[in-house]
Amino acid sequence: MAGRCGNQPVMSIYRKWGVEPIINVSGNVTRLGGAPLPQAVLDAFCAAAQESVPLDQLQGAASRVIAETTGAEAGLVTSGAAAALTLGTAAILAGDNLRRIEQLPHCDFPCEFIIPREQRNGYDHAIRAAGARLVEVGFHEIVAGAGVRRCEAWEIAAAIGPQTAGVVYVYDQHARPPLAEVVAVAHEHKLPVLVDAAGEVPPREHLRSIIAAGADLVAISGGKGLRGPQASGILCGRRDLIGSAALQMLDMDDHFELWEPPSNLIDKSRLPGMPRHGIGRAMKVSKEQIVALLTALELYTSGAYEPHRDQMQRHLQRVVDALDGLPVCSQIVVPADGESAPTLELSVNESRLGRTAFEVCRRLRHGSPPIYVGHGQLDQGRLVIHPIHLNEERTTALVGRLREELSR
Ligand SMILES: *Cc1c(COP(=O)(O)O)cnc(C)c1O
Repeated sequence: MAGRCGNQPVMSIYRKWGVEPIINVSGNVTRLGGAPLPQAVLDAFCAAAQESVPLDQLQGAASRVIAETTGAEAGLVTSGAAAALTLGTAAILAGDNLRRIEQLPHCDFPCEFIIPREQRNGYDHAIRAAGARLVEVGFHEIVAGAGVRRCEAWEIAAAIGPQTAGVVYVYDQHARPPLAEVVAVAHEHKLPVLVDAAGEVPPREHLRSIIAAGADLVAISGGKGLRGPQASGILCGRRDLIGSAALQMLDMDDHFELWEPPSNLIDKSRLPGMPRHGIGRAMKVSKEQIVALLTALELYTSGAYEPHRDQMQRHLQRVVDALDGLPVCSQIVVPADGESAPTLELSVNESRLGRTAFEVCRRLRHGSPPIYVGHGQLDQGRLVIHPIHLNEERTTALVGRLREELSR
């Protein structure tokens, strides 16, 4: 599944500029370049580059595909889930009010978004970037060791006031309050719910279930589980809001009289004129990215990635077998959703090895080839191997380096 655009290069293209390619066993992480692009996605990218099309027409077509795939009224291809969050926020804040569109991120109108405090995270900068002010509610008293409860829906209701513009929800299987309760509270007050579901696909059902639960806008990464371009994403949801998001992202350098945006995306009849470039103009998406993302979405939903799971499991089993006898305890973890990739957890016997997992991780990064393992459980003495970028050759190199660093 490793990408091959034309002929396999004899030498890494990155070395031309003095950058050493790595073996990424951290997964689809942005910092290391995202997901491996399937050949069909690369081919689509190259084909799209051969011709020109009006981008608003292409986004109109993308909207139809995304709507069909997600059950949402409309959709937009963005330059990532973070961009989708900024655009979704901008849409909620400004709607089709051209003065507001021009003013963002400076708001002299309601701009507060309520968010469960326990859902705050670094990516919500993308929401604040549009001009929103986050209002935190609730406590995670279980984590604090101070109680038995987490954020509850009534706390969101209690925080709603004249300055409230919407509610933010960061989706996770274990997120609290349950999305349905948050939607009920928000809709009771006629407020939209913007959901960050960037990394929540797979499982496939999330493409539909989050919209079905009543979310008004959902942001999904294109460069994670969908295996589209690293800098792509999806914003889907209510048609009026998607239309506003499109208006604030697309290039607006045309004459109003000549401008013919696709009516399924932008309702021109509601507009008194053509807005200037909006806040999302800095997050533009290329025709190649749009076509590649749509191709990846189609592959993903048709189940084309599924045979790859057995292959990934075999690569991991090879690693397990090769580490037999070393001071490490190996366990392949198969996610319960039956769709996400298996991972391999390597618990390092730090006292027997005489080296911490953190140190092993550092040495793997500095070796040849450099290897980047999952680093989320280092404090528990564990390295995590995510197999999505592995092939036979890389697994051989990985095994060799792990054996070196995990031998006394
Ligand atoms: C990855 C991620 C994002 C950002 O997604 P991009 O597609 O990289 O912009 C936002 N929120 C969460 C929770 C994420 O995991």
